[in-house]
Amino acid sequence: MDNNKIVGSCLCGKITFQFVGPIKVFQYCHCSRCQKVTGSAHASNIIIDPEQFTWLRGEELLGRFELPNTRHFATTFCKNCGSYLPWLTQSGKAFVIPAGSLDDDPGVRPIHNIFCADKASWYKTVDSLIKYQALPIQ
Ligand SMILES: [Zn+2]
Ligand SMILES: [Zn+2]
Repeated sequence: MDNNKIVGSCLCGKITFQFVGPIKVFQYCHCSRCQKVTGSAHASNIIIDPEQFTWLRGEELLGRFELPNTRHFATTFCKNCGSYLPWLTQSGKAFVIPAGSLDDDPGVRPIHNIFCADKASWYKTVDSLIKYQALPIQ
């Protein structure tokens, strides 16, 4: 996976983007900030260099929030549908791509968990739970 274009979009589809490899890191982040931003147990983030990334459509609909008194953390979202989207770190040194926003398989898999010390108290590993292939019939 080197020069393949990987495409992503928000839920409403008005914003689309692409990036090319190589992917530096693919990781789950359990920090409290990522829990807030994703509304979930952890973020699933791919890290690349800014030169590898391009917005394709809908850039005017992007919202950005930079967390005060932090060196890196920011968020980007679609103002129309609220989806969490790729964001440039405040340092400008990296793009963080939420893997759930991708429309293609990035071809790599997560390699580690970070900020496990901040893990949600209620978190259980996926494999420890019963699995249904779709919404179970009640
Ligand atoms: Zn949207
Ligand atoms: Zn985090």
